[in-house]
Amino acid sequence: MTPFDWQRVLLDDFPLLFLAEVALRACFAFATVFLFLKISGRRGIRQLSVFELVVILTLGSAAGDVSFYEDVPLLPICAVFVTLLALYRLTMFGMSHSERFAGWLEGKPVTIIRDGLYELNSLERHNISSDEFFMELRQQGVEHLGQVRLGILETDGDVSLFFFEPTEVRPGLSVLPAEHRQVYCQVPASGMYACTRCGFLQPLESQQQTQCNRCAGTRWSKALSHSRLR
Ligand SMILES: [Zn+2]
Repeated sequence: MTPFDWQRVLLDDFPLLFLAEVALRACFAFATVFLFLKISGRRGIRQLSVFELVVILTLGSAAGDVSFYEDVPLLPICAVFVTLLALYRLTMFGMSHSERFAGWLEGKPVTIIRDGLYELNSLERHNISSDEFFMELRQQGVEHLGQVRLGILETDGDVSLFFFEPTEVRPGLSVLPAEHRQVYCQVPASGMYACTRCGFLQPLESQQQTQCNRCAGTRWSKALSHSRLR
């Protein structure tokens, strides 16, 4: 085999007219996926559930293969199409008739922040780190956890936040990026600090090195106490 043999790289043994067949196959693949989205009743892809993602990926992979593999005939793709559509409809039917089935398939909303503190059990059970939410929180105008009464991770991956009234805001863990948030094992000055793992607040003395009373974390960041402006 010769590397960088451009005849092989570009077209190999296919006749030039095969490109026209590929164009026709691509139209077929496009129509299949388009029809599927139309018939299945989906309006957009922003809120695709895990199950829907699997269906779309399977169909997309089948449609991708048929678009340029000369030895993949078109009719089997129609069979894939009909099977997936039937499965999809059946599952939707099951989900609308059984809350348990829907919960099992789609997952349930998970409480991740309660009264300004991370719910470590939820984070550990779902294998997520508290840092993963910092961006999400900042984008919703949160500067520190003390502003958040309740944070819920929805089944579509969005985070819903409910805030304390401005008068009820308490000091909390900063969610700012590292350059705006110093993290210490041994704190430089006395003051109120927040555990960077769970958000728990503890007054610490200068040079003190201690464990969080709530989660045994050892890293601290100065607690912020501003209320939200928006
Ligand atoms: Zn902690």
